[in-house]
Amino acid sequence: MFLLKDDYWEIKKTKEKGYGVFAKKKIRKGTIIGDYLGKVIKISEYDLDNDKNGLFLMYLTDLAAIYPNLKKPDIHLLNHSCTPNCWIYIYRGHTLFFALREIEPGEELTISYLLSPKDETCNPCTHTCKCGSKFCTGTMHLSKDKYEIWQNLQDEEKKKTKTAKFTFGKNLPKLASYPKIIPNNPIYAIISSANEPPSAIPNRQI
Ligand SMILES: [Zn+2]
Repeated sequence: MFLLKDDYWEIKKTKEKGYGVFAKKKIRKGTIIGDYLGKVIKISEYDLDNDKNGLFLMYLTDLAAIYPNLKKPDIHLLNHSCTPNCWIYIYRGHTLFFALREIEPGEELTISYLLSPKDETCNPCTHTCKCGSKFCTGTMHLSKDKYEIWQNLQDEEKKKTKTAKFTFGKNLPKLASYPKIIPNNPIYAIISSANEPPSAIPNRQI
């Protein structure tokens, strides 16, 4: 569900990545883009290998994932990028997307799909990345280092939040209220350093 007002975004077809979400107006750093909603399914009952839509699954717990309504234009249409301008914020167990930096009109809104490092189970791997970033790794799978940074960060965030209330087979209900903006806090520095190759930040103090 988009939480960003309608006049700030539009869905457009991209050259190589299907549909994508683009900014129509300047979006301030920290702005909440939306809440990832959909039907709650049991991961164990889902055939991840045989559904190319598996990339749309968002893990809620170790057992449950959200499967969005693919017929509806929504935040699941944000494409993956190796240098995304949006990131995930766990709020009351919900997966919110927020702007990692200021986003200019016309820019595509992107997120990291945070796929675990590539291993032999992903063969042939269909997770080719076409983000076009100059730091593109060519794959949506994260390197081991970046993946560990993200996992640690997510573990910390999860400790601070309640888990979402849900019923398997039903839609995850939206929350009664949402923050509008994620205020500046150390999370940005951690995420930025995880987003950039070490060679790009030679002088950064973290
Ligand atoms: Zn890429």
